[in-house]
Amino acid sequence: MTPDEFRQAGAEVVEWIARYMEQAGDYPVLSTVDPGEVRANLPPSPPRWPEPFADVLADMDRVVMPGITHWQSPDFFAFFPANASGPSILGELLSAGLGVQGMLWATSPACTELETHVLDWMVELCGLPDRFGSDGAGGGVIQDSASSALLVALLAARERAGGAAVLGRLRAYTSSHAHSSVEKGARIAGLSAEQLTMVGVGPDYAMDATALGMVMDADRAAGLIPFFVAATAGTTSSNAFDPVADIAAVAATHGAWVHVDGAMSGSAAVAPEFRFVNDGLDRVDSYCFNPHKWLFTNFDCDCFFVADRQALIDALSILPEYLRNRATESGAVIDYRDWQIPLGRRFRALKLWFVLRHYGVEGLRHHVREHVALSQEFAGWVEASPQFVLAAPTPLNLVSFRHRGGDAVNEAIRDRLNESGELYLTHTVLDGHVTLRMSIGALATQREHVERAWRRIEVVARSLAGSDPTL
Ligand code: PLP
Repeated sequence: MTPDEFRQAGAEVVEWIARYMEQAGDYPVLSTVDPGEVRANLPPSPPRWPEPFADVLADMDRVVMPGITHWQSPDFFAFFPANASGPSILGELLSAGLGVQGMLWATSPACTELETHVLDWMVELCGLPDRFGSDGAGGGVIQDSASSALLVALLAARERAGGAAVLGRLRAYTSSHAHSSVEKGARIAGLSAEQLTMVGVGPDYAMDATALGMVMDADRAAGLIPFFVAATAGTTSSNAFDPVADIAAVAATHGAWVHVDGAMSGSAAVAPEFRFVNDGLDRVDSYCFNPHKWLFTNFDCDCFFVADRQALIDALSILPEYLRNRATESGAVIDYRDWQIPLGRRFRALKLWFVLRHYGVEGLRHHVREHVALSQEFAGWVEASPQFVLAAPTPLNLVSFRHRGGDAVNEAIRDRLNESGELYLTHTVLDGHVTLRMSIGALATQREHVERAWRRIEVVARSLAGSDPTL
């Protein structure tokens, strides 16, 4: 593709995306294709000869779009928000255009230095502890996901606790409501199922720090090494906040590493009134949250902070001859390859930088506040409804609620709504009961969409109740 051909095709692609932004709300939110339907529209073999770009783009509409679930739709209330804002898409495009590998400072100094600087901005923007800034012993780095952040924290903690020599005696802890990425990370780090304890939660679904202390003490008394605690600031099922300060105090008596996963909710800290999401972070070893969820930056972009960057580097740095260079040997630069699992790394800081500059601090606060206000309003409608109850508190933008009719009714409501294509919401189980989750955070979502969703939920629930005289 010559630069001129690229210029023309690129303009068509940008136009295609802009049209999609305008129309994302017109599609059924949840894709309705059957398994295999997308593949059935694809030829069995790759094209032998070049094809016109126009044909390729046309197949986006013909083949791909029917198989898309519209995360950018204003009626998307499932899982968690995954916003692809205009500035982030453009930053992503420039990153692809430059095509740099930022594994070493020397392989593109701007890739490293912009990332360090933007992560320092994030410390200020979110009111995070100074120890996560790059001018002390700590620092921030962009990982692909909260799952990877958890894994590298776990590997650093494992190394700090004695590494392979004591592997079998190591014990890690998290709550029974933590995200599955903790269990996955533990597996990847070589821990058996018995080496990860799922600590119980209180009535608010937050980790019971007293129970944590008891199990850590018992493990220590049995000759084991409590080395890692993963706490959550905003759980996936109910948006519960583990008592991080208490957990850190307990962990400190064992010298255990504390990692806090603030995947979605961490973004709320852009607004000072929501900084309770940061409670206790001044005492932990590492923290992450995902701008790719609720800070309007397209996947992938996880901000990961450590209090002691040397612990990461000790765990992950290997310097083969072919990577040696003068800048690394001077000790004056950061080589982010030592802060992550892969060697290669994309220029992700560009899209975050674009987002921060496009919205500004006040713009980001505005959108987060809007989403929280809409969620609070929705929670109020649930509370006032004779059909539904809140299943958990609504501290931010996730409303956990259920119909009084029981699991089958809640599943039927979810399925009926999702099959209608008018909106998309998902479920979880709390205290053994199927619970609906209304996650509000798409940039396109306005009050009218939330209000319409609630009306649809009520109507569907009434129609189901009408068909069952016991409800
Ligand atoms: N942690 C929590 C609390 C989450 O809710 C999620 C996403 O659902 C994750 C981790 C996983 O995030 P990622 O896809 O960035 O690994």
